Amino acid sequence: LAGVGPRTRTTATHCPYCSLQCGITMTAGDRPATLQPADFPTNRGGLCSKGWSATELLDHPERLTRPLVRAVPGDRTSPLVESTWDDALDRLVAAIERTQARYGRDAVGCFGGGGLTNEQAYQFGKFARVALRTSRIDYNGRFCMSSAASAANRAFGLDRGMPFPLSDIAAADVVVLVGANPADTMPPAMQYLDAGRVRGAQHVVVDPRRTATARSAALHLQPLPGTDLALANGLLHIALAEGLVDEEYVAARTTGFDEVEAGVAAYWPDRVERLTGVPVADQRRTVFALARAERAIVLTARGAEQHRSGTDTAQAWINLALALGLPGREGSGWATVTGQGNGQGGREHGQKADQLPGYRSITDPAARAHVAAVWRVEPDSIPGPGRSAFELLDGLGTDGGVRTLLVLASNVAVSAPDARRVVSRLGDLDFLAVSDFFLSETAELADVVLPSAMWAEEDGTMTNVEGRVIRRRRALDPPAGVRDDLHLLAELAARLGAGHLFSDDPETVFEELRRASAGGSADYSGISYRRIDEEQGVFWPCPAPADGGRPHPGTPRLFGERFATPDGRARFLRVEHVEAHEQPDAEYPYVLTTGRVLAQYQSGTQTRRARSLQLLAPLPRAELHPDLARRHGIGPDDVVELATRRGRARFSAHLTEDIRPDVVFAPFHWGGASAANALTDADALDPTSRMPAFKVCAVAVTRVAGP
Ligand code: SF4
Repeated sequence: LAGVGPRTRTTATHCPYCSLQCGITMTAGDRPATLQPADFPTNRGGLCSKGWSATELLDHPERLTRPLVRAVPGDRTSPLVESTWDDALDRLVAAIERTQARYGRDAVGCFGGGGLTNEQAYQFGKFARVALRTSRIDYNGRFCMSSAASAANRAFGLDRGMPFPLSDIAAADVVVLVGANPADTMPPAMQYLDAGRVRGAQHVVVDPRRTATARSAALHLQPLPGTDLALANGLLHIALAEGLVDEEYVAARTTGFDEVEAGVAAYWPDRVERLTGVPVADQRRTVFALARAERAIVLTARGAEQHRSGTDTAQAWINLALALGLPGREGSGWATVTGQGNGQGGREHGQKADQLPGYRSITDPAARAHVAAVWRVEPDSIPGPGRSAFELLDGLGTDGGVRTLLVLASNVAVSAPDARRVVSRLGDLDFLAVSDFFLSETAELADVVLPSAMWAEEDGTMTNVEGRVIRRRRALDPPAGVRDDLHLLAELAARLGAGHLFSDDPETVFEELRRASAGGSADYSGISYRRIDEEQGVFWPCPAPADGGRPHPGTPRLFGERFATPDGRARFLRVEHVEAHEQPDAEYPYVLTTGRVLAQYQSGTQTRRARSLQLLAPLPRAELHPDLARRHGIGPDDVVELATRRGRARFSAHLTEDIRPDVVFAPFHWGGASAANALTDADALDPTSRMPAFKVCAVAVTRVAGP
């Protein structure tokens, strides 16, 4: 896995960005580090522009290499100046102790990220509950795929976003992608769709924009944002009317179908066409293609899930897949396409407000007792559930809210909905500490900034889009003055009197994580660093064998015999279309939706600094239909202002017939004057997942200036 030459060292590791976690080979030594794509099972030699650029940032001139503190402690108008680790940690610990003495334990909060390794995510959750004894921890994955996770838990009793390996996508005869655009978000994954297409497979893309993925599909359905649930119910209505339901499967493997059957009766095709804009003929083509295929897959992603009814929308597509008998059959099923690099593992090990490691509920007495024994604390000392991400952020600085916040691997000033409100709340904090590689928009607001190690400088594990646990391997040393987040948490714990419970060694932490996860739904207890190395990753669940037993092989494909519910059956659940929280009106006449572009990633803290990516995507561009542009006197590349009830942001106008004439698209990778999330709606959270409505709000468009 690692080769040592006279001056250089090669290391097998993975791209730092999205959940495909493409395998790469790093070469580091005397010269700047370089990388090559590896023939890993997920990317099979492929890499996108983000992956190719990853080494550019390791020695970037803006890289933080020393802690920063305010020149005047407590005065955030004073400049950030370089300091020592001791000074920075002393200031943070003093703030924690001061805050907890005055306001109680829950007045200190933690905010994590889906880019942390499993070990870091696990340790952060433990740090909050054991060292701080606060309930207030959540992470940015709440803004990513929490709706799909809630739906999968509800329907299947288990949330592994993709319950089958990526290779099943190549074997499927029909794939329906709902609000998913892998051609831009994870291009090497397109090889699975391409392989299917070569065999004659048909792909249907459901997206208000004709994306690169939609252009490659046999059929593109272009619904109004926020109506995907109605479309799925409508497709099930047609399946019932046409006798396409797999009645044998429904009877043998599911419960609750009668209620859903009654519910979708009202979603007759022409009503669905009026709600969604998808022609009846296209609805019928989609259902017949899915039902007649020997193997068929339905994939949802953020376009369908980031709504106030995101959980129910994912459930509606699961209902359709179940009615057609897909989940649990090889080459078939429903899955969600995870976004962040460790979006899957990041939500399994305890940095969510309501969970303990192993994907256990924090309110389950047996789970609390198990985890407490591993942590060597009393079960009663583990706090109960905290607040979801947006609710945590929206309560900052208020009575009963968090007053001192530690942020790891997250840039909420750009990525949170209604971002200017969140920035204002951050300003209300007594103390803010941020660990990051660069001075992100969130770090700029902090009292203390802690320089953290980057992906190539740390060891650990990640869990990719398919539930495959893989190794992130250290390819080079971090710059002097930079520390891994495990080290940061161990140092803080020591200063808070709990140092004996926290290791900074990744493999030691993983061994503890294994024990903590044993018996949970995300059971890693049979996985080891050695096995991951030997087997190119191991799929969870992978329980440890009983004494003397054979090692568990891991579980690439779930639900073949039974689902993870108590009775082994999948759950249909009746779900109804609800209008988006904001409807267009005279003042805000269009629908705004947000998303990603090929050459940027998440809040752009890293990719906006990569020179090669800046050349590919230098400007934030809003997509407008030419008809809409004409109405407002907007020409190509004009500067336009988008305004919603929460704020304004400026973009360069990209006129394209690939978008619906009533919809505007803005990428969310930028902050400042082009912050798409200054526009998005945070007032309507999904009742189950607490997901904000990132993908739909009402917007006005005006021309500001020429190109
Ligand atoms: Fe692969 Fe995703 Fe990295 Fe692109 S960003 S190289 S698709 S892991």
